[in-house]
Amino acid sequence: MLNQKGKFAMALAGAGLFSGIALFSQTGTAPLPDNRVRNVDPAQYQEVVRDVQGKIRVVAGAGSQVSVLAGDEGVLIVDDQYRQMSDKLLAAIRTISGKPVRYVINTHMHPDHVGGNDAIASMGATIFAHDNVRIRLMGGLPPGAAPAQAGNAPPPSAPPTPLGALPVVTYRDPITLHINSEEITIIPSPKPSHTDGDCFIYFKNSDVLAMGDVYTTDYPAINPGNGGTSENVIEDWNYALDHFIGPNTKIVPGHGQISARADLIALRDAVSTIRERIQKMVKDGMTLEQVKAARPTKEFDQRFALENVGRNEIVSTDAWYGIMYNEAKNGQ
Ligand SMILES: [Zn+2]
Repeated sequence: MLNQKGKFAMALAGAGLFSGIALFSQTGTAPLPDNRVRNVDPAQYQEVVRDVQGKIRVVAGAGSQVSVLAGDEGVLIVDDQYRQMSDKLLAAIRTISGKPVRYVINTHMHPDHVGGNDAIASMGATIFAHDNVRIRLMGGLPPGAAPAQAGNAPPPSAPPTPLGALPVVTYRDPITLHINSEEITIIPSPKPSHTDGDCFIYFKNSDVLAMGDVYTTDYPAINPGNGGTSENVIEDWNYALDHFIGPNTKIVPGHGQISARADLIALRDAVSTIRERIQKMVKDGMTLEQVKAARPTKEFDQRFALENVGRNEIVSTDAWYGIMYNEAKNGQ
């Protein structure tokens, strides 16, 4: 039986599940929409703009969260949602600044993060991304990459990426930009985890880190076809925690709520625990169905299960179990 306090906690948790609100965020900002949908009808989605910290704002609609740095020298954005959202995204950016968008940084190659490239580049913006983002958007494979699999490359029927949508400035080592009195460092993630072309973007003066889909406030979207493993994800998180995320840093995830250091640490610890449990279950000879039935994620699901964090038609917790199970089977 629950006491009053327990009932209140459950009511709060229930409200969080219904609305997709991360009740645990330390930032106190209003919740953002989190719509990872494949077939986007732009008429259904409204963009919202929120302050993050310092000079950084975030625009959220369908697809990636978009970090925005505006000033006299123009506008810089991180990622640009689905192609179908471009008009609404640009309209939302115009509510922040009338200056042109001059720089776009892609955190990685997925269509919900690079879809606006063509429209925004055609208005004069320069696109920045990891070497491998350009290679993959052109339909190629980075040196040493495994052959493309579902989820790692556009399907064969997909139209080729227009020339104007391709990154113009590419890199595989960190680079720093100086724009609008802000120091912006783009850091390739040390290990392949979500893709093999993920970058973090750190706004030093504002103390804001945009992490793309390496961090999405729920169980991580690991991409084994690009060499991704949960161990790599944890290493990438630890790298960010050690080098860029201090006590006051705000984190903009690829999808999900604006977070603080404690939020990422909680997810890292949960995934580490789940990983160990699944490894042990596989060692004990359990099948995937038996692992799912045992629910090694149980006390973490309320906070991190993908279906509880936001609308998500792309990855499910069920699929995530399969990835974690295969990893353990393969001794990774
Ligand atoms: Zn992605």
